[in-house]
Amino acid sequence: MAPWLVPRLFSPALDAQIGGSGLRSALLPSSTSDSTTTSTSSPPSNALPRALPASRAFSTAALAAAAPARSGLRSSKLTRTTAASRLEQTTTHLAFSTSSSASMPPLAKPSTNHYDMVVIGGGSGAMGVSRRAAAYGKKVCVIEEDGRLGGTCVNVGCVPKKLMWHAADMAEHLSEAPEYGFGDVNNKPAVPGFAWNYFAEKRDAYVRRLNGIYDRNLDKDGVEYLSGHGKLTGANEVEITMRGEDGKFTAGTHKVTGDRIVIATGGRPIIPSDDKIPGASLGVDSDGFFALREQPKRVVVVGAGYIAVELAGVFNTLGSETHLLIRHDTFLRPFDPIISETLQDHMSKTGLRVHQKTNITRVEGERGGPLTIHTDNGSPIEADCLLWAIGRRPNTDNLGLEHVGVKLDQGGNIVVDKYQKTNVDSVFAIGDIQGKALLTPVAIAAGRKLSNRLYGHASLKDDHMDYTNIPTVIFSHPTSGTVGLSEPEAVDKFGKDKVKVHTSKFVSMYYGMLEHKAPSAFKMVVGPGDKVVGLHIVGLGADEMLQGFAVAVKMGATVKDFQETCAIHPTSAEEVVTMVPTTHKP
Ligand SMILES: Cc1cc2nc3c(=O)[nH]c(=O)nc-3n(C[C@H](O)[C@H](O)[C@H](O)COP(=O)(O)OP(=O)(O)OC[C@H]3O[C@@H](n4cnc5c(N)ncnc54)[C@H](O)[C@@H]3O)c2cc1C
Repeated sequence: MAPWLVPRLFSPALDAQIGGSGLRSALLPSSTSDSTTTSTSSPPSNALPRALPASRAFSTAALAAAAPARSGLRSSKLTRTTAASRLEQTTTHLAFSTSSSASMPPLAKPSTNHYDMVVIGGGSGAMGVSRRAAAYGKKVCVIEEDGRLGGTCVNVGCVPKKLMWHAADMAEHLSEAPEYGFGDVNNKPAVPGFAWNYFAEKRDAYVRRLNGIYDRNLDKDGVEYLSGHGKLTGANEVEITMRGEDGKFTAGTHKVTGDRIVIATGGRPIIPSDDKIPGASLGVDSDGFFALREQPKRVVVVGAGYIAVELAGVFNTLGSETHLLIRHDTFLRPFDPIISETLQDHMSKTGLRVHQKTNITRVEGERGGPLTIHTDNGSPIEADCLLWAIGRRPNTDNLGLEHVGVKLDQGGNIVVDKYQKTNVDSVFAIGDIQGKALLTPVAIAAGRKLSNRLYGHASLKDDHMDYTNIPTVIFSHPTSGTVGLSEPEAVDKFGKDKVKVHTSKFVSMYYGMLEHKAPSAFKMVVGPGDKVVGLHIVGLGADEMLQGFAVAVKMGATVKDFQETCAIHPTSAEEVVTMVPTTHKP
């Protein structure tokens, strides 16, 4: 089988971990298709202790068990329930409208040889661009090779990650409950253990329901969904290698043409090669995190970006012994120092073992068994799971870009102008594949704006994604959020004399009642004309707090605008409009 036919969302390391009985092997010619079950396992009959017992060893079998839940999804039928309809309503931010029909299978072949728009990829960006184009009456098809729609965000990114964060958040609240009068505070009951497998099954069922909603939304909007691998064979031509119901890419090939071709193929996680770091492939990546069926007792997470911090935070908060290995002194270095410093200090106090200036040199052990992780700084670490979260690479290989000479940058990302157009007039690229602001709402908005500009009213002829002041949140413990320039970026841009910084550090009222307190730390970065050019917040509720303030920053609000907005009391957010007295110059 040609290597490019291997589904991109599953890394070699995960494939190795699932030991031939997992999803990837299910897609290879020698395998059979997997279960299509959408049921969840029963709730645990008895609570598990918070510290994981040794008997719950982390195993290859546990990883392999993940496979059925992640495959064979195209043929699953969604039974509509009240919960499902509720779900449809609550996912409009991802899917912008819903339908009540049953889940639609992909088409067996294209309905025509020519489309107004052909979209390669079926993730966030593809949904945005294709559905908007179809709303303008255009004939559009979406080609997705993974066997399910939704891409990284829905299947192995934002959605399952946020659910894991909610579980961890609940563990925190359970441990705090006695101090709020629930149970005997002098004889605190053990926090019930977390049934990882039960939750993972339930989480995956939720994701499958989202997959079904995505299917139906495309169908409702008249976008054709073709399950297969797309490859450019000309500036206006795409070859589709169709994927059959058994998951194999043996259902024939078709060539279609499009006035416009949009590449929305996203990226995939990186793992170092075994040549570079012997034994590196004994670890998993972020896709592998979602394949875990048991909670590892001891985990090493490698990486300093937001995905590493979020996943390490989940493990740590749920009670795994968690080591985070970072190359420098601090994690989240591109973020404002108030975020990285506050979080690193607090997460370390809550048990996360941050190993600064530490690189893995060698990994020993057996796949799925205990691992000995050797580093260049200190004694080896014994762990049950090694998770690499060291970055992602764009899915540009075997896309046929060379056929039409689409330019890539040094990182392999597709180079686009502000209208998402590549150097080839008919070819566009949106989302992670263009290497800027790798976030779901960015991919969706860039896609919608592209279709607005191409097919919309004259007033939309300049519509394009503005890559400045994009708000984003880190689902850490506590959460943190950021919009605009960090203090160092503002100083670089405007000069030290033109920048003022207002900060506030406090303990939110929720923690005032508790023995163990989590910090809140806010920073407003002010540029010329007293304009708020950056806002960075860490603390309880930061995730929900930031969206509204981001509107103000995007609109160019000044400090006065913030100050003249009446505070909402008692909240943490009120600090944002009242923190001026602690002003300092950088
Ligand atoms: C662990 C994790 C957590 C994240 N959390 C967040 C978060 O909280 N908030 C947020 O905004 N973002 C988050 N992200 C980022 C977000 O998931 C991505 O920015 C977003 O999914 C990008 O959308 P996209 O359409 O560009 O690509 P994708 O969603 O990756 O979709 C690309 C699709 O193209 C398909 N494909 C690739 N090549 C081909 C081909 N040749 N033919 C056919 N199909 C192909 C792939 O199978 C894939 O389904 C997270 C990512 C990860 C990994």
